[in-house]
Amino acid sequence: MTATTNRQVLLVEKPTGKLGPEHFKMSESAIPEPKDGEALLRVRYISLDAANRAWMHGATYRAAVETNTVMAGGGIAEVISSKAPGLVAGDIVFGDTGWQNFAAVPAKQLSKMPKLEPMTHLLSVYGIAGLTAYFGLLDVGKPKAGETVVVSAAAGSVGSIVGQIAKIKGCRVVGIAGGKDKCHWLTSELGFDAAVDYKDGNLFKALKAAAPDGIDVYFDNVGGEILEACLAQMNLRGRIGCCGAISQYDGAPQATGPRGVPGLIVVKRLIMQGFIVMDYMNQRDAALAELQSWVAAGQLKVQEDVIDGLENTPAALIGLLAGENRGKRMIRV
Ligand code: NDP
Repeated sequence: MTATTNRQVLLVEKPTGKLGPEHFKMSESAIPEPKDGEALLRVRYISLDAANRAWMHGATYRAAVETNTVMAGGGIAEVISSKAPGLVAGDIVFGDTGWQNFAAVPAKQLSKMPKLEPMTHLLSVYGIAGLTAYFGLLDVGKPKAGETVVVSAAAGSVGSIVGQIAKIKGCRVVGIAGGKDKCHWLTSELGFDAAVDYKDGNLFKALKAAAPDGIDVYFDNVGGEILEACLAQMNLRGRIGCCGAISQYDGAPQATGPRGVPGLIVVKRLIMQGFIVMDYMNQRDAALAELQSWVAAGQLKVQEDVIDGLENTPAALIGLLAGENRGKRMIRV
């Protein structure tokens, strides 16, 4: 059946507390006409990212999302028609398509993607998640064989790949995740050496037991109390890769944060560095080749959490922030 209208999810209100379904609304509009320099896209998969929620607070590495507009979000899409050089009907692209069936997007804001199966891997291991894990761990964390690497949100899309790459590099790997099931999955399926359930009591003590020799590299996806516990257990000349701060995204902006940061950094000669994956795009091809070789060799398992239906996008994001997902969550449009 040929679609005649464009179904869209609008952000109708910015949350001041926790994100809820009432902040979104389904809407319909005409399928857009691409202008010069744009391509008309049919969206195939929409990426659910913790950062979607952070964009509602204000400008970050991108502009804030505004109310009564289509909710922003990355997606894999097929070019239907093009008024831009370099793109033709049938091409597969990644870009900020937003939460909708069709989008007209300037070609310069799109990345042409290889045609590979399953296409979902273009959002997970060969997408932003895989590249974030790859560059954040290897370039910022600089792990050496034998060192202890700790990663938070370890059962999520970025974290599950970070831990597996650290194993490939010969490190002892500890994942921090919410719940016994996720922790068991990390050790039994993904090869982590230990996992800590941050929802189960004394995080500091549990981390000490899981990483008895201290932490050399901490890949921080969550900030807050987990960052504080890891900071206190860092070894001399340890590295902390600051990837994100999920614990601070959903709710009113908080004034909490790790205590004792400056003193610890000085005394332990720590390096604490933030990074944005987009800064590494000139090295993308080499990273993808290495990720592909690990997947082909069975060293890197890809976990995807695919939910059907554009109308389920708000619930899927709310659920991701609550820890429902294992691996890369996305919507099949
Ligand atoms: P994930 O797939 O990792 O899912 C988010 C997970 O975070 C949930 O499953 C949940 O798992 C965990 N979580 C939620 N709330 C808390 C909390 N309060 N404390 C600890 N864990 C929590 O999401 P993403 O892959 O989208 O994001 C991972 C991180 O990577 C984010 O910080 C994101 O901003 C960052 N990122 C950064 C990029 C960069 O360029 N710097 C690029 C892409 C992502 P659990 O059950 O374990 O609680």
